[in-house]
Amino acid sequence: MPYITVESGVLSDEQKEELIKRLTEVSSEIMKVPQEFFVTTIKEVSDKADERIENQTPDDWERLYAAAKNVINPREISPFIEAGGVGAAIMTKEGNIYTGVCIDTASTLGMCGERNAIANMITNGESRIAKVVAIGPDGKVGSPCGACREYMMQLDKNSGDIEILLDLETRKTITLKELIPDWWGTARFEETL
Ligand SMILES: [Zn+2]
Repeated sequence: MPYITVESGVLSDEQKEELIKRLTEVSSEIMKVPQEFFVTTIKEVSDKADERIENQTPDDWERLYAAAKNVINPREISPFIEAGGVGAAIMTKEGNIYTGVCIDTASTLGMCGERNAIANMITNGESRIAKVVAIGPDGKVGSPCGACREYMMQLDKNSGDIEILLDLETRKTITLKELIPDWWGTARFEETL
């Protein structure tokens, strides 16, 4: 019995139909194999390939976590400034990812990783955030500080819906409005609608 393997990737419907047609033609010359056999087999193989690829594809949280971790690089920049201890990554509603690290300075001029990522996003012409991940030097995910919460709330009238990762393993998230209830600026957004 000849057999086929699907190395990788997913067969399109057209490719599946073509494969079934050709296998049926060939097999009918050699032996009587019903077409249903190929339909079932190819569908099973293709579905399994689909499933495998789906499981291997990192989701948004994994992509954001990897992006944030990638920029962590704790270092002393000068006797006054340390940077890179915290890495943050934000995904915009358009699906782009921007990163930033914390910059700690003397005289309280510093900036958190989240706000640095936001500055990066704004520099690139976007302002609507969908998801946020921030990672400390220990690799653990943390929720944004009060200043960053406020900063994000002022960015967009729908900022309350921003999802923030609290735990990568369990994919536990929280929305910004849950972290900053009864926000003072809601009325101003409503006036400008
Ligand atoms: Zn902050």
